[in-house]
Amino acid sequence: MRSPILDYLDAIFEGTAHVTSGATADYIPDLAAADPDRAAVALCTVNGTVYASGDADHRFSIQSMSKPFAYALALEEHGVARVLEHVGVEPSGEAFNELSLDRETGRPLNPMINAGAIATHALVAQDEDDGVDRVLRFFSTLTGRDVEVDESVAASEMSTASRNLGLAYLLEATGGLARHPRAAVEGYVRQCAASVDVRDLALMAATLANGGVQPQTGEQVVCRETTRQVLSVMASCGMYDAAGDWFTAVGIPAKSGVAGGIIGVLPGQVGLAVFSPRLDAHGNSARGVAMMERMSDDMGLHLMEAG
Ligand code: GLN
Repeated sequence: MRSPILDYLDAIFEGTAHVTSGATADYIPDLAAADPDRAAVALCTVNGTVYASGDADHRFSIQSMSKPFAYALALEEHGVARVLEHVGVEPSGEAFNELSLDRETGRPLNPMINAGAIATHALVAQDEDDGVDRVLRFFSTLTGRDVEVDESVAASEMSTASRNLGLAYLLEATGGLARHPRAAVEGYVRQCAASVDVRDLALMAATLANGGVQPQTGEQVVCRETTRQVLSVMASCGMYDAAGDWFTAVGIPAKSGVAGGIIGVLPGQVGLAVFSPRLDAHGNSARGVAMMERMSDDMGLHLMEAG
């Protein structure tokens, strides 16, 4: 029998088709050329059952949704204290690619903005040969399949990476980068170009919802403390300068990516993933936000709502 959850996701997909505002990311040529009308939504329970609707098999680059997972790897490898020496946990209230570091410490404010994500990637991938592979292996453990880099997207982003290179050199100047700036950006860009679909993302989100245990394999992929740290930072910083709007309206930890994906995590319950390439002024998927708002309302997901 067809699950009512699938009918529900179809309704979310169809009920947000009118949201055509925004535009594909313009600063990465490959993303600018994406088909703007594709869309998908997926939900994964903490039992590991995945439901999806729309273009659920369409793969796109993970982009900034890689950041919480790279942060999780850094925390597992180095511990919270060492990672905090390199990257803070304060919301920046600024755009994702802002050229900003904390005035007093010289650290990036958090690991969800590009400056913090480049510093985090460098912590995980200090070893030149194995850096990106380690991140990809981790994504593969989370999704249960071999995740690969979309080389076209990676090359496209590297061709217009001046801003991220600028950030990396700034980080090097303040002593906050564990690798050469160019290598750190190349690795970070490849991390962001990992190719996934909404099912993969829902499962990755569900692993965070499930205390760091991948729900299909039962493997504890990250510890509970790491999971808590990652979800806390997603809640306060995951949606950049729209983090306050997001948390009041949707009320769950989340992370967006400029290819049009958004993941959301309701601890103990579900992982959600949506995709639609047109972005709003903050760089978050416009229809994706609409899909998440509806699901949060319908299912009463907001963490600040009692009962
Ligand atoms: N790779 C992208 C960048 O660095 C990621 C940004 C994003 O998804 N918000 O610009």
